[in-house]
Amino acid sequence: MTIGIWILGDQLSTTQAALASCKSKKIPVILIESLSYVQARPYHKQKLVLIWSAMRHFAEELSQDGYSVTYEIADNFLAPLEQWVKANNITEVRVMIPADKPFLKLIQDIEKQHFSSLKCSIKLIPNNHFLWTKEEFFNWAKGRKSLLMEYFYHESRKRSQVLMAGNKPIGGQWNYDQENRQPPKGNLHPPAAKWFEPDKITLEVIAHVNSLKIPTFGKLDSKLNKFNWGVTRTQALEVLNWFIHVRLAGFGTYQDAMLIGEETMWHSMISPYLNIGLLHPLEVIKAAEKAYQEQQIPLNSVEGFIRQVMGWREYMYGLYHYFYELPNQGLYAEQNYFHHQQPLPEFFWTGETKMNCLHQVISQLLNTGYVHHIQRLMILSNFSLIAGLSPQAVENWFHTAFIDAYDWVMQTNVIGMGLFADGGIVASKPYAASANYINKMSNYCRSCAYNYKARTGENACPFNFFYWDFLDRDRDKLAMQGRMSFILKHLDKMSLEELATIRQLARDWHLQPPGKQ
Ligand SMILES: Cc1cc2nc3c(=O)[nH]c(=O)nc-3n(C[C@H](O)[C@H](O)[C@H](O)COP(=O)(O)OP(=O)(O)OC[C@H]3O[C@@H](n4cnc5c(N)ncnc54)[C@H](O)[C@@H]3O)c2cc1C
Ligand code: SF4
Repeated sequence: MTIGIWILGDQLSTTQAALASCKSKKIPVILIESLSYVQARPYHKQKLVLIWSAMRHFAEELSQDGYSVTYEIADNFLAPLEQWVKANNITEVRVMIPADKPFLKLIQDIEKQHFSSLKCSIKLIPNNHFLWTKEEFFNWAKGRKSLLMEYFYHESRKRSQVLMAGNKPIGGQWNYDQENRQPPKGNLHPPAAKWFEPDKITLEVIAHVNSLKIPTFGKLDSKLNKFNWGVTRTQALEVLNWFIHVRLAGFGTYQDAMLIGEETMWHSMISPYLNIGLLHPLEVIKAAEKAYQEQQIPLNSVEGFIRQVMGWREYMYGLYHYFYELPNQGLYAEQNYFHHQQPLPEFFWTGETKMNCLHQVISQLLNTGYVHHIQRLMILSNFSLIAGLSPQAVENWFHTAFIDAYDWVMQTNVIGMGLFADGGIVASKPYAASANYINKMSNYCRSCAYNYKARTGENACPFNFFYWDFLDRDRDKLAMQGRMSFILKHLDKMSLEELATIRQLARDWHLQPPGKQ
């Protein structure tokens, strides 16, 4: 038997399961850049550069380490795979199981349709880039009434003994959110983010991406919209170390704050690296725990950060697979609890809107492919939810626009957490808010054409009339969520005249030409 290893673009670690399954380094390895694959949607240019440059760097590292590496740039995966199998007389191609279901199906289809004539098989090796295997998550989820993240997170902490004193959480509490999520008061000066100058390989990829005649999202040039992400494990580790030593202490307190010109606040910015295998979640968690033990970094920040990686990230991955395999559930990606059908406004592609919060966030996204969690949740998906945009169109847009977007992380975050389109499996209530919240947690409203206090009238903020229109429009379904009863009482107190004006403003907004929205 001759074994060969096919490494996918989000599996760039030397300890990944397919590589680890072979003791010898004298085995053929292949990495393929497929042009047809990246035309499934107009991906962000910076994401194409990140993946392809990271793949090229990884291939070079494997070659230097003694592997026999083939690197192909092709129209599709099949032709170079067939050629490589034949040239190396390979009888078994090993692939680590992709995190994304559509990619797994693509591999299975390739094997079914083309591999028997090659006298070769594909062996799928369980993915080791997450802390919980699919089976472990299924066992946790099976038969539970509530799949809320908090229970999963406690279990995760207990079983890995992270921030634990025996069976009890260190500090006596599982969560310190009452100390976190402070509004951005006074002059805040978050530490600079860790960026990198592109090297020769990355510059070649940038030129290649800019020369492609395919639809893409976002900006990429040599001056204003430079590519400054890391593309190697060494650089990803530098970002992690920088975060742990310089930013982690302030992470919790201002986790939810948003400021013009301070695009990344105290966030770690490691998701692009975690999601392609340049970092492993366990090393990230251990680094944060060590910082707590050795450098007295405040527990509210350390616990808050560990909850994101050990709780939310693993939970989203587990749920994605769990929903896929639940019988008679319908496709999770197609859920639309509120039957929202509005198309995406034009400014989702350009950032050109009078709403300053959306203008700031989408402009940043076009430049870098990144905005932080609260900008994703409370600006982008909050607006999409209350304005009644189609969840599938929104999910597709998120997948297009973000540097760290993959099917496994997109569905439960956008359909579930962001839009409540699953009817409340992931979130215990919709993350819907009016301008009041945005004004409290950011400085966007201060320089906006709209009045954050007004819900009707000429300068009424769209977040206000859409918020109340959403509560009114979807009242029956919202009334079933216990946590919404308080706010629905306020809706009941609103005069019929004001409610009618709000409904009209919301309807008219969707009819406005793009430049006016
Ligand atoms: C609508 C919506 C869309 C999102 N899309 C993506 C996406 O495409 N890719 C992605 O990786 N994350 C996504 N998230 C989750 C989260 O917003 C990002 O992981 C985070 O903002 C990445 O920035 P960071 O590395 O600076 O994170 P930090 O705020 O520093 O958090 C640390 C790490 O925790 C993990 N994490 C935190 N929350 C989540 C979560 N809800 N799901 C998964 N991982 C989490 C990430 O790996 C992140 O790097 C989305 C969240 C929402 C609400
Ligand atoms: S006033 Fe409304 S639209 Fe303007 S920044 Fe504030 S929330 Fe956004």
